[in-house]
Amino acid sequence: MARPGWHPHLWHPFTQVATADPPLRVVRGEGALLELEDGRRLIDAISSWWVTLHGHGEPAIAEALARQARTLEQVGFSDFRHPAAEQLAERLAACSGLERLFFSDNGSTAVEVALKIAWQWWRNRGEPRRQLIAFDGAYHGDTFGAMAVGERSLFSEAFEPLLFAVARAPWPATWWGDDGVEAREAAALERLEQLLETPTAAVILEPLLQGAGGMALVRESFLRRVEALVRASGALLIADEVMTGFGRSGHLFACQRAGIQPDLMALSKGLTGGFLPMGVTLAREAVFEGFIGTTPGLTLFHGHSFTANPLGCAAALASLTLLEERPERHQGFEARHRPHLETLARHPLVRRPRLLGSVAAFEVATDAPGYLNPVGQRLQRLALARGVFLRPLGQVVYLLPPLCIDDDQLARCYAVIEEALSSL
Ligand code: PMP
Repeated sequence: MARPGWHPHLWHPFTQVATADPPLRVVRGEGALLELEDGRRLIDAISSWWVTLHGHGEPAIAEALARQARTLEQVGFSDFRHPAAEQLAERLAACSGLERLFFSDNGSTAVEVALKIAWQWWRNRGEPRRQLIAFDGAYHGDTFGAMAVGERSLFSEAFEPLLFAVARAPWPATWWGDDGVEAREAAALERLEQLLETPTAAVILEPLLQGAGGMALVRESFLRRVEALVRASGALLIADEVMTGFGRSGHLFACQRAGIQPDLMALSKGLTGGFLPMGVTLAREAVFEGFIGTTPGLTLFHGHSFTANPLGCAAALASLTLLEERPERHQGFEARHRPHLETLARHPLVRRPRLLGSVAAFEVATDAPGYLNPVGQRLQRLALARGVFLRPLGQVVYLLPPLCIDDDQLARCYAVIEEALSSL
């Protein structure tokens, strides 16, 4: 059935055709800007779902891709290896402290692989552990394993009977001016400690900042205490840095900012600077060693056709080089957000402002918090009409711009939010 404004053959994610505004038609991206077919330009204030790390059309990545495309575009990764994959593995090992790299295609699969590795690692040792622990409010992706460890929500409701059981600990989120965080942290740690009395294969968390679950920030010291409990139990610690990785926290990885060292790390989004879909799961060498031997069944029987796609590797190498060459861009972003967020925090509708690296968030005062709260869509429309693309998570509004955004563009994002709030 033809619907005005909608393409007759496309099916968009997370989108209810009956109630959503038809998607806008983008013809070009440059830096922090998206250009629509009618010539309008929008500031991409959320880096196109948090992937466009340096900016749209970043020339260094585009050129690296063209070079790689002329050299080797794809090869099966069981029988072959190639220089781009080797270099990426070496460089990520050097900056993450995790020696082994397993490739997949996106953030969800990077998480699936981490879960499968953790589960099978215990089995390979002959001591299967059957419990997995995740945190309330988590979002780890939309494939089945990733859904299972994520918070059960509207997103997973239809599949509930198919999802495996996961134990959950509270996530003691905090914000500017919060004076109750110590008590919430103590309760969360007590619960985690209780859960860890059951032999646990792995604990998975989004270090420092939960993303799609509502941009919920915890303190670095909390994560260090979590790490200590996990270590004492022997469980593996999985850091899902799909959103927070590659400078988003102000450090290369949020785990580094928090001072924790996971056993497994899932990365995607900014990995390729947002140019190509790719995910990686990094693992400690000791985890990898658990899969080696002649006994059938020790092997990790998981793989994707596009494993270690050379184009993705080339984009990722170019993106890492940019991060290394201009560290001030991610390290200095928090200081650029701060004065704007301080001003915005004085708006009567703004609650719970929080900030981590290039991610700034707050909540709009409402009696009915949640993903379906209509305030998100209303704010999105108001901001779009003023040239800024936002995508609030219900009443949670956030900015997560490309690192290339200039001061005027950033100021414009805040001014537009302030205007939109005032006309709600
Ligand atoms: N983990 C986290 C922390 C995420 O933010 C996301 C995506 N928002 C995912 C996993 C899933 O990644 P993808 O959408 O690439 O499958």
